[in-house]
Amino acid sequence: MSTTTGTLYIISAPSGAGKSSLVKALIDSEPHVRVSVSHTTRAMRPGESDGVHYHFVDHAQFTGMLEQNEFLEHAQVFGNYYGTSQRALEKTLAEGIDLILEIDWQGAQQVRRLMPQSKSIFILPPTLEALRHRLTSRGQDSGEVIEQRMREAVSEMSHYVEYDYIVINDDFSHALSDLKAIFRANQLLQPAQQQRHLGLLNELLA
Ligand code: 5GP
Repeated sequence: MSTTTGTLYIISAPSGAGKSSLVKALIDSEPHVRVSVSHTTRAMRPGESDGVHYHFVDHAQFTGMLEQNEFLEHAQVFGNYYGTSQRALEKTLAEGIDLILEIDWQGAQQVRRLMPQSKSIFILPPTLEALRHRLTSRGQDSGEVIEQRMREAVSEMSHYVEYDYIVINDDFSHALSDLKAIFRANQLLQPAQQQRHLGLLNELLA
């Protein structure tokens, strides 16, 4: 087991900003980074599977977990409940693996309070039109739901100032390299490098 604790990253974005695709591409290329699988009461969408995209639970199960203090954070988003399991998170970080929480601004505020060493990243769309286009082309939600999500998107984006980093997803590969740069820079921070290269440092300073 590694002696270095993993870094906790919070990534938020309005729905349709391309957050999930960017995060998937990031973890596909970074073996030491994982994504936390949240619990949610919302219905499964086509193409999603239980335990992969979310742990899909009913309201009673979610409430039971809440009463048992199993969530590090939780929030109600678009009328459904979402939460991050504390146990899974602690286990991953203890293994020295970086963990991403794909959560909304409410959850981000709770996590920042509890884990001030976490880093937070906000992903923005290049324009409102691009956001609307991405929400519409998913073909999964009705017009009414899309309008509601556009309103929620503006409200979500108003919290950008609370985040450490901002990534604009205009061009996918640029946004991905911005994300990778954030992760790389954090891996190079002095305390992490000191732990990683203790042997070298002892040798250099002997
Ligand atoms: P969706 O239902 O489209 O997958 O996600 C809707 C919103 O819920 C997104 O903003 C997403 O980041 C947020 N979300 C997903 N999982 C969690 C979670 O565990 N906690 C919080 N606070 N928000 C979450």
